[in-house]
Amino acid sequence: MLIEPHPANPNILPASVKLRLLPYVGFGSTLSPKPLDKIGTTTSKDINQHRGHRGFFFEPCVLRALCSEKVFSSNMTTKQPAVFLDRDGTINEQMGYINHISRFVLLPGVGRAIRKLNEHNIPVVVVTNQSGLARGYFPASLLDEVHKKMDQQLAAEGAHIDGLYICPHHPEAKEKKYRKACNCRKPKIGLLKQAAADLNLDLTKSFMVGDRWSDLKCGAAAGATSILVLTGYGRGDQQYIGPQQEIQPAKVAINLNAAVDWILEQLKS
Ligand SMILES: [Mg+2]
Ligand SMILES: [Zn+2]
Repeated sequence: MLIEPHPANPNILPASVKLRLLPYVGFGSTLSPKPLDKIGTTTSKDINQHRGHRGFFFEPCVLRALCSEKVFSSNMTTKQPAVFLDRDGTINEQMGYINHISRFVLLPGVGRAIRKLNEHNIPVVVVTNQSGLARGYFPASLLDEVHKKMDQQLAAEGAHIDGLYICPHHPEAKEKKYRKACNCRKPKIGLLKQAAADLNLDLTKSFMVGDRWSDLKCGAAAGATSILVLTGYGRGDQQYIGPQQEIQPAKVAINLNAAVDWILEQLKS
C-alpha cells in the first residue's frame, strides 16, 4: 500500500500508516531496496536517507515512527528532548476501549497544545498501550482509522504528531502474534526506547505526559520527567492510587495544554 500524504504536511507520514517497514522497501528507481529485517533495526538514519521518496510501503500492523522533515533535519546530530504523550485520557476522552471510530473524541485544547510543541520544533511522540488488539476487541484496521481521525482533527488545528508507537500485546492475547510478555507495554519503556533510537531523542531530557500511574512509572523508568494530567483517569487516580505510589509526578497539570505550558517553561530555563 502506498501511503497517503499527511493532511497537514506532505513531509509527515500520517499516523494511520506508521507501522513496520516491510523487509524490502522500494525507494524509487535510483536506490536499491534496502533490507530492513525487523522492528527495531530501522534507525532514523535509514528513514532519513530515504526521506523525500514518497513510496514507503508499510505493513498494516504494529508500531512505527512518523517522521516530520523538520524534526529530522534538526536532530540528526544532537539528541533532542521530546514530549511523549499517552493517548486515551490524555489526547482523547477516556471511553474504555476505543472500539469504534465514534469513540475517539479529541479533548478540548489538545490541538492547540500540540501545535505549541510543533512551533517550538519539539518532537511529539504518542505512546499507547492498545491491548484491545490482543484481546480481539477491535481489528488493527480500526486502530488505523482512529489514528487517521486523530491526524485529521489535529491537522484542523494546525498540529501534528511526529511519532506514534503502539503496544498491541498482552500475555493472554487471543491472537498468537500479540501474545507475549513484551517489553513495550507501559510501564515498560520499550516504546520510548524505540522512539529514541528512531528519532535520535534524549530520554533524560524528555517529558512523559499521561493520565495513569503506568505512564508516570514509564517516564520515570526511562529517566524522563513525568507529568500527570487530570483528564481521563487522572483525577481519580491522583486521589485513590497516587498516595500509595513511590513514583510521583514532577508536575500535576489540569490538562495537556497546561502540561505543555509547564514543559515549555522548563525547556526555556
Ligand atoms: Mg491513558
Ligand atoms: Zn508490547
